[in-house]
Amino acid sequence: MEPLLDRLGRPLETLRISVTDRCNFRCVYCMPKEVFGRDYTFLERRELLSLEEIARAAGVFASLGVRTVRITGGEPLVRRNVEHLIELLAAIERPDGSKLQIALTTNGSLLPQKAKALAAAGLSRVTVSLDSLDNAAFRALNDVDFPVERVLEGIDAAAAAGLPVKVNAVVKRGANDGDLLSLAERFRGSGHVLRFIEYMDVGSTNGWRLEDVVSADEIVGRIGERWPLEPVELESPDATARRFRYADGAGEIGVIASVTKPFCGGCSRARLSAEGRLYTCLFAAKGHDLRAPLRLGATDEELAETVRGIWGRRTDRYSELRTAETAALPKVEMSYIGG
Ligand code: SAM
Ligand code: SF4
Ligand code: SF4
Repeated sequence: MEPLLDRLGRPLETLRISVTDRCNFRCVYCMPKEVFGRDYTFLERRELLSLEEIARAAGVFASLGVRTVRITGGEPLVRRNVEHLIELLAAIERPDGSKLQIALTTNGSLLPQKAKALAAAGLSRVTVSLDSLDNAAFRALNDVDFPVERVLEGIDAAAAAGLPVKVNAVVKRGANDGDLLSLAERFRGSGHVLRFIEYMDVGSTNGWRLEDVVSADEIVGRIGERWPLEPVELESPDATARRFRYADGAGEIGVIASVTKPFCGGCSRARLSAEGRLYTCLFAAKGHDLRAPLRLGATDEELAETVRGIWGRRTDRYSELRTAETAALPKVEMSYIGG
């Protein structure tokens, strides 16, 4: 099958699916309480794609070359019966007869009770977001007083269920940049890859400032000073993380330098919002409605043709063009699009 390429020659390989815009956390850099408070209007149930509609859309994307779907949110594990969605996705066949890789990004809070069922449903792997091991700092970051111990239990539950686990930490200066070494120490030798993410100017509500970004170079420098690191060759042009291995053999870390070293050149990711809008960039201001055709009886081939047209016109490379002005433009919220 000919790969579907955008205007810059990038194939469509990954679909990130947000299954809800709601979350049980209020991370200060993502859903600040002052904005996402009692009066905030979340999507209503009937506005959300049903699990069957999501799976149907995923099947269409798989027919166009997508290999990996990533379930995200908001917090994907607050969506009722998300295990059933995993089952539906696991049943999809790609054109070459292979199955989709199914990944999940979660804050980990509900993994202690859900990890087993997710693994049994066919989930391939999980990424848990964890920004600090210091309980007071973590409770302040999630802003709902959620204890860090419970997230660590979630990570253990996922590993016990046989799921490969990655841990993602967003680094914000003054909030958790003092926790780099303790995070690294905790996951060294654990078999879980720890990845640090530069704080990004997503959405319009988190009051992002360039001064709050801790660069990937600084992160690698600070960890490498304590435990020497060696770069690992990148496997795929679509890789978001630069990888480094500990010289003493205790595993590896990754850094995602979306601000200081953007990687738009290899970006093969499309994003589907919980209400069925297709976004071709994390920083897009608006998406393309796929829910209407899905609900109005479009055939799979008609849906595929719509997606081909959208991807074929894609020219996004926001991070490579980022300036103070673009950072101030209206953009879709992280909790809506799912990272
Ligand atoms: N609730 C799930 C979670 O936290 O993993 C999934 C959705 S969350 C929006 C996806 C990822 O985006 C998380 O790892 C989170 O830390 C990250 N994120 C949120 N706001 C961010 C920002 N301003 N800069 C960088 N990463 C951010
Ligand atoms: Fe919720 Fe994830 Fe955003 Fe934190 S980062 S508020 S857990 S969606
Ligand atoms: Fe992809 Fe947009 Fe991020 Fe660039 S800025 S890597 S095009 S999502």
